[in-house]
Amino acid sequence: MIHADGVHKFFGDLHVLKGVDLTVERGEVCVLLGPSGSGKSTLLRCINELEQISAGRMWVDGELMGMREVVKGDQVQLHRRTDKDLSRQRAKIGMVFQRFNLFPHMTALDNVMEAPIQVLGLRKRDARQRALDLMERVGLSDRTDHYPGQLSGGQQQRVAIARALAMDPQLMLFDEPTSALDPELVGEVLGVMKELATSGMTMVVVTHEVGFAREVADQVVFMDDGEIVERGTAAEVIDNPAQRRTKDFFAKVL
Ligand code: ATP
Ligand code: MG
Repeated sequence: MIHADGVHKFFGDLHVLKGVDLTVERGEVCVLLGPSGSGKSTLLRCINELEQISAGRMWVDGELMGMREVVKGDQVQLHRRTDKDLSRQRAKIGMVFQRFNLFPHMTALDNVMEAPIQVLGLRKRDARQRALDLMERVGLSDRTDHYPGQLSGGQQQRVAIARALAMDPQLMLFDEPTSALDPELVGEVLGVMKELATSGMTMVVVTHEVGFAREVADQVVFMDDGEIVERGTAAEVIDNPAQRRTKDFFAKVL
């Protein structure tokens, strides 16, 4: 689903991703860990093309980022992708951020219905049914008519997950989805994410929730200073790291 090959990202002179190689298979859950500033959010933003990579190549769902393959006779040419290509590709990827970014003037249900109507052109009735099903899936059937301001942080984040799922994505990206929540609300959001993982969704999750990584990650990736330092199962990377930098990190967070 994701294949990154020697990906670099610069912000001006700042070298933020330094040759990242990453493969995430369909149905796999990849947990990305690492210290602040190591490039985790930047990598996620490159995967859904909120940022353009500076060098290297990245494929998402078989499509080469930034480029479009055009077959002319027996030749394959590469063309810059159009905005239309980009929005079609982005629609395949759901993203959930630390801050829930719900529309404050819309009810929870309307938040979930909005993009399927606006972007996918779903009929209102169908979007509503889809949104009701998703609100049930995230355990919020009794909160559909509440406004974001009337919901707890954990409930808002579950609405944000339902909203991302309403686009029927092939891939879900999570950037520290629980780190803005009060501790007692973290579990309900992780529960929804675990259910999603079990249902076979392909997921890349930036989180410091080591328990979540142990329970559901197929692959744990430790990043530091723009590089992938170590990758493997949770048992390998978290509980038995081989690299000094990984050991130091987990010695501090565990
Ligand atoms: P955190 O755990 O704090 O969220 P992170 O691993 O997600 O950190 P990034 O947000 O990817 O790290 O940032 C990596 C580096 O890139 C940091 O030094 C950051 O200041 C820098 N950076 C990120 N976005 C930009 C930008 N748009 N312009 C300039 N520099 C940026
Ligand atoms: Mg970040």
